[in-house]
This record gives sequence, structure tokens and C-alpha cells, in this order.
Amino acid sequence: MCQATRDILWAPAASWVRKQNQCAGLVLRVGSGQATYHRYDPRKKQHLITYGARMIAAKHQPETAQGWLSTREIRSRGYFEGEVSVLNLLAHTCCHEFAHLLQHSAGQRHYGSVHNRHFYEALDELHHSGAANATRLYLAEQASGCGIELSAGPFEFPSPAAEHRHWQVGDSVVFDDGRREIQGQVVRVNRKTCTVTVSQHARILRYRVPLSLLRRAAAA
Ligand SMILES: [Zn+2]
Repeated sequence: MCQATRDILWAPAASWVRKQNQCAGLVLRVGSGQATYHRYDPRKKQHLITYGARMIAAKHQPETAQGWLSTREIRSRGYFEGEVSVLNLLAHTCCHEFAHLLQHSAGQRHYGSVHNRHFYEALDELHHSGAANATRLYLAEQASGCGIELSAGPFEFPSPAAEHRHWQVGDSVVFDDGRREIQGQVVRVNRKTCTVTVSQHARILRYRVPLSLLRRAAAA
């Protein structure tokens, strides 16, 4: 995924990015946890994209893939014909993080509004221009060259009733409110949502989170 980001997405965009920011560099790395993000270090003039190993593992099964924003984006925005598979998820994840880099370079990443209109314009463009497909092809080829199977078979997601049984009071969960990832605990399982409490600055906040947005918090 790091190589795909560098060779397929960064290579054609680097000169544009450097027009905005002359000596901007890009560092790609794999993290050990779930955390997957783009960050910019103004001191080093360096973009950093981290792909979490546990994120990659989670995107290998429908049950653990469904809480991720990338799953929802593929389904709701019709990327890759709306088909969610391991290969599509990982290719899309490269595009998602790279869209943050483009968004940042255009000066359109603002605190509290990360997944904004500008972000989705950049992400749509990566899909419409063929860059997402090129990334997908590259990942498939590189993986098969290394003997790693990245399935292109579409996921079947559990029915809402089965989803409902998946959660229990006391479960530690994470969800994304569109701005950041929030960790909390299930205090009630409703028909289509879970009530989740989140402690923040010595206050307890309650959220009603749609089942499809929840995922299990990684054990510490
Ligand atoms: Zn994002």
C-alpha cells in the first residue's frame, strides 16, 4: 500500500503538490495498530501517511470491515461500482489518505471539518480519473507477486437483525463521527443503534450510534 501510494498516486501529483509547497516530501509507513491517517509536519515540510496493520486485518472480513469509513464510502458513493472487497477496500484506503494529502496541499483541511466538501472532491477525482483503479491493479499485481491473496470477491454484510445481536452492553467500541475517531462503551443496544457513553474531559457524553458505524475497539 505504501508503494502503491508512492508510485501510483504521489508520482503524478508530486509536481502539483510542490507548486503549492516547494519542498514537500512524503513518508509512508505501516503502524502496528488500527490507526490510519495522513498528517503534515510543517517543520520538516513532510507529509506522513500511516497504514495500520490492524486496519488491514480488519478489512479482511465483512464483520470487522463494516464499521470503517472506507466501507461506507465505497457503498454510498458508488466507488468501484459500490462493491466492497478486500482489494477494493485497501485500494480505496490508499486513495482516502492520499485525498487528505491533496486536500491539505490545497489548504482545505480545517480543524473540525476533515471530511469536508473539498476532501470528497479530491477523493471523487481520484476515482473518476482512473487513479483508484490503477492503485487497485497495482496492489493486486504486487500482492500476487509476493504470494499474498487479496480477494476481489464482494463481501456480503450481515442483515441488520444479525448486526443487532453482535453487540452487548459493556462492549468497548470505536466509531467515527466524521471528524475524528471516538472510543466509548455500549450501555444499551437498541434496534438500529447502540447507546454509547464516552468520557471526555471528566464529562460523560452519550451518543446513539448506528450499528453500521460501530466497530470493536482493539484490545489494549
Ligand atoms: Zn479521513
